[in-house]
Amino acid sequence: MRLFLTLFCGLPLLSGSLFGWGCDGHQMVGLIARAHLTPATSAAVDQLLQAYPLDPAAKRYCQNRLEDPMADVASWADDMKSVDKTFTWHFVDIPLGAKQNSPGDTDVSRWCEPIGPSIDGKDRPGCVTTAIAYEWSILRDKSQPGAERAKALRYLVHFMGDLSQPLHDSDNHDQGGNCTRIGFFGQEKPENLHGIWDDRLLSRELAAHHATAEQYGAGLDREFGKNWQAWGTAKTDVNAWAWEGHEISARVTYGKLNPAIPVADPALGQVDRAGCNVGRSAVEALHVTVGDDYMNATMPVIRQQLAKAGYRLAGLLNQGF
Ligand SMILES: [Zn+2]
Repeated sequence: MRLFLTLFCGLPLLSGSLFGWGCDGHQMVGLIARAHLTPATSAAVDQLLQAYPLDPAAKRYCQNRLEDPMADVASWADDMKSVDKTFTWHFVDIPLGAKQNSPGDTDVSRWCEPIGPSIDGKDRPGCVTTAIAYEWSILRDKSQPGAERAKALRYLVHFMGDLSQPLHDSDNHDQGGNCTRIGFFGQEKPENLHGIWDDRLLSRELAAHHATAEQYGAGLDREFGKNWQAWGTAKTDVNAWAWEGHEISARVTYGKLNPAIPVADPALGQVDRAGCNVGRSAVEALHVTVGDDYMNATMPVIRQQLAKAGYRLAGLLNQGF
């Protein structure tokens, strides 16, 4: 999930988008990961989260609470964006039309600053790939206070989910899909593409299957279990995974829209608030509508991304902290 609130160079700039996956998607990632933690890692996770629990009185965006302590805090990072000034840490805006400098060159530093402190109350610099590396280094550092390591764990559970949402790895000069407004299953009010991928498609899928996040997540783990070895024990490579999400975004998220939306010039970069409104109107004029065809084309990819994120999170944590 992204929100339109960042400031840059003293000018309001719309950067990023709404939430990563919604509550259901992030919880599924946590649950799928849990099923693949080693007993020692699983115990260490619970020990840390239970030693430094969240304030029970704190307002939480996700109202459905889970018994699993790790899945239950999977969306906490979205609650903390304005408090911790970590808005930019949830995504990396690789322009949709951008290409790797050379095959296999997964560097994303052109679109991602190193992690830094908040200056004058503005959002801290950084992006999802540097944020994962940063929080992993805190989690592994036993000299850090326990409360900081618990916080790092909560961030990692969330960011590994965000990284798998293709619109958190791509931007078509539209705030990662937030300025792309399209019709959704004939409903009167159009939806932002970003929100459709965060949770609208998934909510529809859960409703159609009369499934909870727990039930659906368990089904994903059964479906993709054969991929555990390939995905869960691979070397952690967040930059490569960001490019993977970018490729999915071009091929599926935007690629399956009908009629097609033009790919913006990568040199345009992020759009400001006025440009966002212009973009919305321009796309609305194309009368793009999402329905069963789009859902059938995208849900297999969404399911795979959720399972991958869970396995990759488990693989990361299983390295030991
Ligand atoms: Zn997020």
